[in-house]
Amino acid sequence: MPHRPIYLDCHATTPVDDRVLAAMLPYFTEHFGNPASVTHLYGWEAEAAVKQAREILADAIHATPEEIVFTSGATEANNLAIKGVAEAYFSQGRHLITLQTEHNAVLDPCGYLRSLGFEVTFLSVQPDGLIDLTQLEKAIRPDTILVSIMAANNEIGVLQPLTEIGAICHQHEVLFHTDAAQAIGKIFLDVEAMQIDLMSLTAHKVYGPKGIGALYVRRRNPRVQVAPQLHGGGHERGMRSGTLYTPQIVGFAEAVKLGLTEMESDMVRIQALRNRLWLHLQTLDGIHLNGHPTQRLPGNLNISVEGVDGQALLLGLQPIAAVSSGSACTSAKIEPSHVLLALGLSPELAYTSIRFGIGRSNTLEEIDRVAAGAIELIRSLRNVGKD
Ligand SMILES: *Cc1c(COP(=O)(O)O)cnc(C)c1O
Repeated sequence: MPHRPIYLDCHATTPVDDRVLAAMLPYFTEHFGNPASVTHLYGWEAEAAVKQAREILADAIHATPEEIVFTSGATEANNLAIKGVAEAYFSQGRHLITLQTEHNAVLDPCGYLRSLGFEVTFLSVQPDGLIDLTQLEKAIRPDTILVSIMAANNEIGVLQPLTEIGAICHQHEVLFHTDAAQAIGKIFLDVEAMQIDLMSLTAHKVYGPKGIGALYVRRRNPRVQVAPQLHGGGHERGMRSGTLYTPQIVGFAEAVKLGLTEMESDMVRIQALRNRLWLHLQTLDGIHLNGHPTQRLPGNLNISVEGVDGQALLLGLQPIAAVSSGSACTSAKIEPSHVLLALGLSPELAYTSIRFGIGRSNTLEEIDRVAAGAIELIRSLRNVGKD
């Protein structure tokens, strides 16, 4: 049996933690009830599990349980936040502000709103990927209703200064939404201290199941209105209809709980692995780090490699490690990442970028093996160029 490549793509998704799976299993079979069934024990059991999960998730971000709206993931949460706020507040203004480096699940709803007549400012970022706070403040207008700035970037791992952004938004009485898909369970989040009004979450980037997430919607100071995007049975206080997916919700909460209790030890270990990989790779010339050197997720390393062909690099890496590149195939055409271009990278360097996402289960031995394989590959690709 050939080796499977070493998994280093934890920004794309993570495996479900065994403890998370164990917590979920009884809710598929024994406790299968519909949490909305109020007339019998089966419903009550499921409803109790959902209630507990809601409390765990609310605690994790310093919210209250009533402020958690379950969704199918962060894509849906972002859509609900952005389109839901636009629809609820359009009589007060039709201007939104976001960042060029956001996930498509933020950029595309904003683009959609633009097609409906809203105005959207897509702020540029500094070369290290951080927001320019003076630019943000300047962009806020009397008709601005929402600022949407991500917590942690999914490509370069850069952490935006949420507390400072929250203060600016609060001062100008503009709602602040953050996409925290990459951040929950990995960095400290507090909707009170950071003055966040809406926050998108997902389970599958933090060792939980796919297909479940949540939107935090502030209920006090101010009470945020969100127009539902799915209409039906009126679940989730009317904001998101659809039968709650009890096993996924239980797994989501368990994953976030584990993320919090193990945050410090995990992060120290994962960051050490990341730094070791970076140290190894720096033995080569012409390797660039993309994004801020320290203000980033502990498990993220995003580099660009000079003097190699991007396709050949990715192909050569395939048997060694499961990683992502900074270019995405959109309709059969390879396009450089919009995030790397926003940092000011040339398309050439964007094409030869690699995103490593190190996670809970990676070992020192794996990191050394990947580093050795990558270094050998890059050397040989550069030699080919010289012939
Ligand atoms: C993964 C991700 C999403 C999408 O989340 P899903 O739960 O897969 O829909 C949105 N934003 C960011 C920053 C992400 O990393």
